[in-house]
Amino acid sequence: MPEGDTIWLAAHRLHWALAGHVLLRADLRVPRLATTDLSGRHVEEVVARGKHLLIRVEGGLTLHSHLRMDGSWQLYAPGERWRGGPDHQVRAVLANAERVAVGYRLPVLELLRTAEEDRAVGHLGPDLLGPDWDPQEAVRRLTADPARPVGDALLDQRNLAGIGNVYKCELCFLRGVTPWMPVGEVPEPERIVALARKLLQANKTRHGHITTGDTRRGRTHWVYGRGRHDCLRCGTAIRVAELGPPGQTRVTYWCPRCQRGPAPAPAPGSAPRSH
Ligand SMILES: [Zn+2]
Repeated sequence: MPEGDTIWLAAHRLHWALAGHVLLRADLRVPRLATTDLSGRHVEEVVARGKHLLIRVEGGLTLHSHLRMDGSWQLYAPGERWRGGPDHQVRAVLANAERVAVGYRLPVLELLRTAEEDRAVGHLGPDLLGPDWDPQEAVRRLTADPARPVGDALLDQRNLAGIGNVYKCELCFLRGVTPWMPVGEVPEPERIVALARKLLQANKTRHGHITTGDTRRGRTHWVYGRGRHDCLRCGTAIRVAELGPPGQTRVTYWCPRCQRGPAPAPAPGSAPRSH
């Protein structure tokens, strides 16, 4: 699932390509929108709300999309070959005289009245990259269920919007707590929220989610994606397990030495690697 900074960048690029221009072509390849034609309308703006993309068009309409696991919006010049996947994965084509935006594998694509966008995004907590960012409210929501594992609470977009699995793992490492620590026991939760904002802000205009300050391959993250590699800080083998409610578990990485708090026992047969 993309992180909020990825969506912010996608919205920023779509805004640059589409805003202020008239749509010459608008194919929406989902059954409910098959007869909808937005061509001839100006695109007013494109904004991100958490992990949701809102393309606002003339006439008080908003095209809402969500990328979930592997959706994307790609931009091309007119006549350029599209490279985002096979044709049957294309869900939307929005084109003006200079740019073609192609939405691939969009699991959510719907048309709303702009005045009713809250139907799609009203449940979200404060947006880490939004104009309405409210750290106190984010902390209040994050800690409202004190027994909940902090990793789950960070991923819940109703608490604060924009954190995906990469930042969840990295934030827990940087604050020295395991993702299983009850959120009510996390020391200074306002600091984990402030750090989330700082990391997303730092990464929003580039690809990748660098949390270490080191752009070298294999060193951009402290723990995420580094299962069984040595911790960059202490040298202990990074551990991997699933965390989350049934049906929504996510692969979770942590350092058993740098992070304190509950954690699942190692699976039988996965003895720590000798050094
Ligand atoms: Zn460590």
